[in-house]
Amino acid sequence: MDQFNNKLKRLLWLHFGENPDYPKECEPLFQMISDAFDSDEQEYALLNRIMDLSSKELFDANTELRKRNQELDSLVYTTTHDLRAPLTSILGLLDLIEIALNEEEKADFLAKIKSSAIQLDYFIRDIVDYTHNKKASVLIQEVDFEALIEKCFKKLEFMRNASHVKKQVSIQSTTAFYSDPKRLENLLSNLISNSIKYYNPKAEEPAVELIVSEQENGVNIVCQDNGIGIKKEHHEQVFDMFYRASSTSKGSGIGLYIVREIVEKLGGNISMTSELGIGTTFHVFLPNKVTR
Ligand code: ADP
Repeated sequence: MDQFNNKLKRLLWLHFGENPDYPKECEPLFQMISDAFDSDEQEYALLNRIMDLSSKELFDANTELRKRNQELDSLVYTTTHDLRAPLTSILGLLDLIEIALNEEEKADFLAKIKSSAIQLDYFIRDIVDYTHNKKASVLIQEVDFEALIEKCFKKLEFMRNASHVKKQVSIQSTTAFYSDPKRLENLLSNLISNSIKYYNPKAEEPAVELIVSEQENGVNIVCQDNGIGIKKEHHEQVFDMFYRASSTSKGSGIGLYIVREIVEKLGGNISMTSELGIGTTFHVFLPNKVTR
């Protein structure tokens, strides 16, 4: 009787009392019932696990969907505002050019038009980067940090004030590192362009330094600048979508949001330290996606 399923044992006790004395011929039948109870219990446990899993998946999918919906709302709101603002100013300036009194005034309006067009271009690029990170599949390749960082600097060469900021790079990593180079390029470009955008003209030598160092299962990337810094009260939110940490911020407020999304997609983590008037440092850890 010991070998029987507990539920069956209970039924036998109920029926025959503490020391069941049932006919021996019944044993095979009881064994069959016991096996059936066992298999029922296993199926029930499996069903419970599946239900637990699917309700967790549903909950996660719902949370993700809510987040995406909120993002979409802000995206539509901010996109229409941020695309229209420079466009409206370009249209106004074009009207002014028509009635400009002299060449000097015209040149001034043209410079303002150029600046608005550049702002528009940066914003559209940010949206393209955002969409790329969301949609494109992760493409793992060996990363050449030196070439990649060089490419980012080159791309940002014509940014306003880029020539005022000294660029330093230190790569202390010898093991082959695998990740998604396109996403990594977006990530680094965003961090470097912020260091240029928010450089401190009062600093003795405005600079941005990139340090790549090898870790056990990946790399640490440090992007450090001596720019204007970020007030403590904004530290929590700088990675939020469309968050600008100062009223003088000229960007779309989406750059660091994209950076954090990229880091998440690549399975890493990111943190920031910053002090107003001193500078800002971003620490990024990315795992090596090498396939052994
Ligand atoms: P933006 O397009 O406005 O630069 P980001 O998402 O890249 O947006 O950054 C969010 C805000 O954080 C910026 O508006 C700026 O105020 C602040 N910030 C980001 N990086 C730096 C930095 N290196 N130095 C100073 N402030 C920064």
